[in-house]
Amino acid sequence: MLSVEGLEVRYAHRDGALRAVDGVDLTVGRGETVGLVGESGCGKSTLGKAILRLVEPIGGRVAIDGVDVAGLKGDRLLAFRRRVQFVFQDPYASLNPRRTIGEILDGALAVHRLGDRPTRRHRVREILDRVGLPADAVDRLPHEFSGGQRQRIGIARALVLSPDLIVLDEPVSALDVSIQAQILNLLVDLKREFGLAYLFVSHDLSVVRYIADRVLVMYLGRIVECADHHVLFGEPRHPYTRALVDAVPLPDPRRPRAAIVAGDIPSAARPPSGCRFHPRCPLAIGRCADEVPSMREIAPGHAVACHLA
Ligand code: SF4
Ligand code: MG
Repeated sequence: MLSVEGLEVRYAHRDGALRAVDGVDLTVGRGETVGLVGESGCGKSTLGKAILRLVEPIGGRVAIDGVDVAGLKGDRLLAFRRRVQFVFQDPYASLNPRRTIGEILDGALAVHRLGDRPTRRHRVREILDRVGLPADAVDRLPHEFSGGQRQRIGIARALVLSPDLIVLDEPVSALDVSIQAQILNLLVDLKREFGLAYLFVSHDLSVVRYIADRVLVMYLGRIVECADHHVLFGEPRHPYTRALVDAVPLPDPRRPRAAIVAGDIPSAARPPSGCRFHPRCPLAIGRCADEVPSMREIAPGHAVACHLA
């Protein structure tokens, strides 16, 4: 359904152009959940936003059902913006504090000219109920809700438009572990019920492991490994993925989290030559500093960008 080819995003930076997303390819099938993982600063949120043109890519192609999104105008652009929704890490920052939840959801429907006022009112109540918010939420303001409820509001605002795909940027990262589980279960149920596809962006591998069918691992603006989630967590082949998988803590929140990978993530303004992971890679060989490893399929559906794979 969604295909992204060679997507590039740069930001201005004091050291020059920061290559936040540097030639990324990915696909999301109908009804599929694709997890996108990596350390903070690797460009994964920017990638999610660039797909929806919330940030403007400087190169590459985003297509939905084979149609290039860049060429869409008028009603067809509006239709794309309805079909592909975004849920933010901090829903509160993206909710107008002076509008009630009912007005926020109704506003989304009105922009897309979906139904007259009574139809929209009915639809809003139906969706609020479906995401587990009380009926009186329609008349209340965002600040009256807890973090978990605000994320339900963010999900409701996306869902009310009957999307086919939702890009979720760290949707549970700001929440307590028990609330995280409730929101993840809600997302799983909604996906089944409405046939949704998700692009689920997270730095938290245990969350991605729970929710994703397929996982992409991103490092400094590039995808370094892609596989079905059983394969990715069972037989990771890229040294970076292996380090991430080894660092996943046991499900006991009192235990301190291991550092993900030794060494700091280098700046995307001055990325290392060759394989960008080479300064931190325990297996690096001579050519790693010079030659960029390309993504190669090593088994059906499993691709790795590493000279040793
Ligand atoms: Fe490590 Fe070299 Fe593979 Fe990069 S290409 S991950 S530096 S072994
Ligand atoms: Mg982010």
